[in-house]
Amino acid sequence: MVLTRFQQANLNQNSHEAVLVKDPPLLTISRSSDSLEEPDLSETTVKVDSLLEQLDDFECSTLDALMARWPSMHARLKGMKPHLPPKKDDDKPTLVLDLDETLLHTYRDTHDNEGQVDYVIYAKDGNSCLLAGRLRPGVIEFLTWAASSFEVVVWTAGREDYARMARGCLDPHNNLITHMLTRNSCIRMRSGSTREVLYIKDLCALGRDLSKTFLVDNTPHAASLNLSNLIPIEAYVGATSDTELSELRRFLEVNLVRLTDRKDDMRIVLYRQFNLKRRIRERVGNWKQQQQQLLKDQKS
Ligand SMILES: [Mg+2]
Repeated sequence: MVLTRFQQANLNQNSHEAVLVKDPPLLTISRSSDSLEEPDLSETTVKVDSLLEQLDDFECSTLDALMARWPSMHARLKGMKPHLPPKKDDDKPTLVLDLDETLLHTYRDTHDNEGQVDYVIYAKDGNSCLLAGRLRPGVIEFLTWAASSFEVVVWTAGREDYARMARGCLDPHNNLITHMLTRNSCIRMRSGSTREVLYIKDLCALGRDLSKTFLVDNTPHAASLNLSNLIPIEAYVGATSDTELSELRRFLEVNLVRLTDRKDDMRIVLYRQFNLKRRIRERVGNWKQQQQQLLKDQKS
């Protein structure tokens, strides 16, 4: 791929000012038919099972801690200014999209992938490559379609400078993404066991009607305060054969856009499709029982 100079990004990393270099994305609007056929539930089940497999012991402990602190978190939200300004078009539902591994994948080690990437961030000297990555297949087409039906919010746990760079790649004409939120709007949690910092996206803080707001995210813990609003998506790590965004679009076309016309609660549809709240709580409950049994065994 021949990389052309595309946009100046104010990315300060390793004390360098970075320059974003990429090919301008090709905008292709290929709207499919307005089919209302029923979705394939077996595919949905596979996706949810795959998401639940991510919930190893560490994530279960984090989810457990989050759920326990949920009421106090929401008490603190009272009187706080919402993360988003008032909605311009009240009829449109709000689609919140995670960034990393949902819309794109940024390689931390750039050496092996420089020839196959969609964007590269060079240090100010123009020679050393700081970051490089790939846009998820079909992401520009998906955002172009979504912008006509939804208020599109991209919410990343990344920093502001990284988010600005990513927005330049995904929405160069600034007409697809309505709002961009960063880790500054996340709830920050530190794991008691590993000390790792996790960033939680609380949809209650957006200032939107939660019956018409949902989050597409590849990690369950990010949405653990709003499991009823989560649409799970497989993590994207650079595969060219990935088709998740076209499947997501089909899911939204079949279920949610149709529901908007009827003024229903979208969480009911998500509950019927995924039942994530119950399944994740079951998994966390099983994990707690295992921990208690382990403690018992150690004492006896
Ligand atoms: Mg992610």
